[in-house]
Amino acid sequence: MKSFLSRFSMIFAVTLLTVVTVSQGALASSFEPDYGTENNIATGDDGMVVSAHPLASEVGLDILNSGGNAVDAAIAMQYALTVTEPMMSGIGGGGFMMVYDAATGETKIINSRERAPAGADPEMFLDDDGEPMEFQDRVIHGNSVGVPGTAKGLETSHEMWGTMAMHDLIAPAVALAEEGFPIDDFLERQIEEHAEKLERSAAGEVFFSDGNPLAEGDMLVQGDLANTLRMISEQGTDVLYHGEIAAAVADTVQEFEGSLAVADMQNYDVTIDEPVWGQYKDYDIATMPPPSSGGIFLLQMLGILDGFDLGQYDIKSVEKYHLLAETMHLAYADRAEYAGDPEFVDVPVEGLLHPDYIAERRNLISLDSVIEEPEAGDVMPYQQDFERQGAVEQPDDKVDGQTTHYSVIDSHGNVVSYTTTIEQVFGSGIMVPGYGFLLNNELTDFDAEPGGANEVQPNKRPLSSMTPTIVFNDGHPVLTVGSPGGQTIITSVLQTILNTYEYGLPLEEALNEPRIFTNNPDNYSHEEGIPEEVIQQLNDMGHGFTEEPSPIGNVNSIMFNPEDGTYTGATDENRNGAAFGFELEAVQ
Ligand code: GLU
Repeated sequence: MKSFLSRFSMIFAVTLLTVVTVSQGALASSFEPDYGTENNIATGDDGMVVSAHPLASEVGLDILNSGGNAVDAAIAMQYALTVTEPMMSGIGGGGFMMVYDAATGETKIINSRERAPAGADPEMFLDDDGEPMEFQDRVIHGNSVGVPGTAKGLETSHEMWGTMAMHDLIAPAVALAEEGFPIDDFLERQIEEHAEKLERSAAGEVFFSDGNPLAEGDMLVQGDLANTLRMISEQGTDVLYHGEIAAAVADTVQEFEGSLAVADMQNYDVTIDEPVWGQYKDYDIATMPPPSSGGIFLLQMLGILDGFDLGQYDIKSVEKYHLLAETMHLAYADRAEYAGDPEFVDVPVEGLLHPDYIAERRNLISLDSVIEEPEAGDVMPYQQDFERQGAVEQPDDKVDGQTTHYSVIDSHGNVVSYTTTIEQVFGSGIMVPGYGFLLNNELTDFDAEPGGANEVQPNKRPLSSMTPTIVFNDGHPVLTVGSPGGQTIITSVLQTILNTYEYGLPLEEALNEPRIFTNNPDNYSHEEGIPEEVIQQLNDMGHGFTEEPSPIGNVNSIMFNPEDGTYTGATDENRNGAAFGFELEAVQ
């Protein structure tokens, strides 16, 4: 396979020659990604890239091979994913990029979470009768679009750690958008399932041909997006936040009755956050603080489960799944009560993670009965200066979104663990006409019914579940992990860590082991592979697992193998992701 960078220079040269002679279509076939499961797992001596799309992983590996570091590779991969997984993340969305800097030993997060525009108000998702609008109606409304942060986040990470020219990091994505790449079965399914949403905007022109949704094997060519990416690579993100693209974003959102204005784009900025840290066995865990609920509740659940010595029960036992389910119920009750954007509400992180509070919660769980109405606990005794806001009951029609997680480790030991999103599949479905990128619907992560910690407010960031995580042993990063899947993200990360460090599974098995999810006694899901009689016994106890299994999340992870100093990378099999090992000797 030819490297992206050399291929890009070739395309550039050919394009110059072809202006007067050959159509662009003549170029459209040189990207030949392997969409099989063959690249789900890989080993590397000096580093690793892993993502949910093989072309994005290939871009990342090419950057490492060209001498770029993990942050350079991650930037190039996010731009590539904007093109190859346009339904999951992109410059119209936001995310959390966790970076471990091997030179300083510090771990930081570039937080590019979308913000509500100045014109947003707590009642914007209520209908004329004061009732919450249906979830799917909220999703496609202009009010769901938050001010996008991704491009600004990438620029900030580049200023802090980048070593290669931004132009060279965006170039592979420009080539992919311009030349096109073959649609895989996964993207085909997503286009088909979301056709109605896409047809409402300029997206219809990109994902349909002659009135039919594009299908597996068709080339997805995104000329407008190529031009947009080229503009960003030449003019920086100014063109997106202050220039003509800011105006186009505002016009588009307003056409869909949202309030987002040019001033909101101009005022947007990322924050640089410290991780929330916790411990599990001999491991230190750096994970995502508020405005994500991910880190707090990952650590709280690990804390609760640590007291049960889970490993004594078989990995597919009734006891294990029961303890997981009960722990999840308690954690999600707290989540609904206490979590929100810390710039706007006090989030009692200390109390929620206090060992005595965790012990109190653990004591509520029994091995042979189910808590019928799990409730939030009282953290007041464990948290100073905290005012409890209280939860407001929300409609239960929210569908977990989809997004994407990827990781990179370079030969210096720098690590990136990055979860990035436009919320639902294809976000709001609203594409900026002439610019070719989709806008998020992240603001549906706010409560629809106002009054709680996560109500809509101008400039506020909606509560997230994204949980990019790095696990350390003796100060050395040993595992990256993250996943898409809305509220299920936290439990997917939890179970990957448990499978790895409680059950000692090799990484591939840790990802393949079936996961469960439940956030309250009325909502359960599980993956294929749990014995039917175990599900039956759990339900006899009072749980409510459905009959049909379904995939949960899409975990991507890199593990450091201390015995030989190599890395293993792995991706879940429910997308066509790829892990590629990096060898220093390949550096050009
Ligand atoms: N909007 C979700 C969150 O921030 C991410 C999208 C998903 O559901 O995967 O938690």
